[in-house]
Amino acid sequence: MCGIVGYIGSRDAFPILIKGLKRLEYRGYDSAGVALLSESNHLNVYKVKGKVSGLEESVQKEDISGTIGIAHTRWATHGEPSKINAHPHVSASGKLALIHNGIIENYNVLKERLQQKGYSFTSSTDTEVLVQLIDYMKESGKLDLLTAVRLALREVVGAYALAIIDYTNPDEVIVARKSSPLVIGIGENEFFIASDATPIVEYTDKVVYLEDEDIAILKRGEPLKVIDFSNEELNLEVQTIELNLGQLEKGGYPHFMLKEIFEQPDCLRDCMRGRLRVEENEVILSAVMDHKDKLLEAKRIIIVACGTSWHAALIGRQLIEHYCRIPVQVEYASEFRYSNPVVGGGDIVISISQSGETADTLAAVELARQRGAFIYGICNAVGSSIPRNTHTGSYIHVGPEIGVASTKAFTGQVTVLAMLALTLAKVKGTVKPEELQEILKEFETIPEKMKKALETNEQIASLSKTFTYASNFIYLGRGYNYPVALEGALKLKEISYIHAEGYPAAEMKHGPIALIDTEMPVVVIATHNSLYEKLLSNVQEIKARKGKVIALVSEGDETISKIADYCIELPKTVEALDPLITTIPLQLMAYHIAVCKGKDVDQPRNLAKSVTVE
Ligand code: GLU
Repeated sequence: MCGIVGYIGSRDAFPILIKGLKRLEYRGYDSAGVALLSESNHLNVYKVKGKVSGLEESVQKEDISGTIGIAHTRWATHGEPSKINAHPHVSASGKLALIHNGIIENYNVLKERLQQKGYSFTSSTDTEVLVQLIDYMKESGKLDLLTAVRLALREVVGAYALAIIDYTNPDEVIVARKSSPLVIGIGENEFFIASDATPIVEYTDKVVYLEDEDIAILKRGEPLKVIDFSNEELNLEVQTIELNLGQLEKGGYPHFMLKEIFEQPDCLRDCMRGRLRVEENEVILSAVMDHKDKLLEAKRIIIVACGTSWHAALIGRQLIEHYCRIPVQVEYASEFRYSNPVVGGGDIVISISQSGETADTLAAVELARQRGAFIYGICNAVGSSIPRNTHTGSYIHVGPEIGVASTKAFTGQVTVLAMLALTLAKVKGTVKPEELQEILKEFETIPEKMKKALETNEQIASLSKTFTYASNFIYLGRGYNYPVALEGALKLKEISYIHAEGYPAAEMKHGPIALIDTEMPVVVIATHNSLYEKLLSNVQEIKARKGKVIALVSEGDETISKIADYCIELPKTVEALDPLITTIPLQLMAYHIAVCKGKDVDQPRNLAKSVTVE
């Protein structure tokens, strides 16, 4: 994770770096730091434990001059969050400062080697090894910085996006990447470096995404140059980014998470635009149409994902199996990549990741690709690593998601998976035209129904006050709503730090029922569908043990609403699309409980948004 930013040009670097770090704070926020080459040619490094705002305050009386600098917001992997472990790390010679996102896996071996050469280490990070190794190469071999970086990286095992500056050469920044994202913005005689395009967007829309094992040289007065490890110059693909600044602000909401929850009706309209054609009775997901032969031949589909995207994948499995009659397997990317999976030619692997940078998902994609599978990516961040490493795919188009707890990306992923299933089902002939027409008509109404579901906000805000006492929660659902129960529990854990478990409702009697007592809130997703009667029995079982039932029911419900302690009424829709509605009150509940408990909703402890380490 970690966010990295850099600048070289003619403007003051510091304000650009701080603003950039704030945009990237979703990636990590346990410590922050900046290194600047000052006007008087000093290397000034400032670091704090804690957030970027703390860094900004701490340098008020310091020299923050300079038109070249690098900055970092950290999500610790090696070494506790502390000022010493914060980046930038400075080399033993005092000349080099480096920031890093990723993990240097062989840092111990390298560290021992460097210690034998007389190097000592002040931090417990893997990153410090990197800067000392480059320093050693440079000083002992009397090399220029670029060559030292290139040779050092040949010895490094692991993942990195890094930027390094040298105060003896104030006209140059060297950056490199492997498995962690890095984008370079190209302005007029200036360059911007960042982990994603959000810090760059207000200065330029021209960017270059670095590929694995690319090293870039950013020199004043010279065009951008990218080389590989054997010093071969590479061709640059300059891309235009399409992001607007409004999407990166809170727009009057107290938190990004609440803004993003409320944006969902509009986001889903954007996601469906041009794809859903109700009058023609078709859905056109162009990636499916372009590769329909491959998809039709598929004997099975494997979906790989992590976290919230894994929950969307579970819904995707039901949608694809129901409408396309193709067997679907859902795998945690982190398990899949190390399980020597049986995957190869003839398999379709769908990878789902909001950021498109999730390290485990990316590795799973690479593995499946090497073994001959056809890879279909479902991502939000345009131009990110996963879309660049798949054969085809669909963007969810829900706009930047800043809140660490994913909300609109989840409903966007479910929407794309539903469109994928319906596009393929029509081509395959596994859905009857009447059935397709019914679901498409319903699909079109989902944004409006989501708006209605959002009207429960006040009710949920006051209900949430009742439950701040709870230290455990159970979430139950069945069928399409079972993954929603998992997702509801995850949201609560992530931002309120309350332990929560999601279960398929009928599984409760095989264990979790033992936990139920008068203190235990149980959220039951009991909207009107084919499993309603079964859920009714599950609710009775909880009530018989005096559990507190919070039921999500369909408007006009007359049975469960009479037994449950609290009821949240939601608009009815077809079963396959119900998760798009039932997710909303669970997002709101997690949000309000966390707010009532005074938690930092947008930046929950220990988490980061873009999980670029494995
Ligand atoms: N491994 C580095 C550290 O612990 C960077 C962590 C990251 O990128 O998440 O400081």
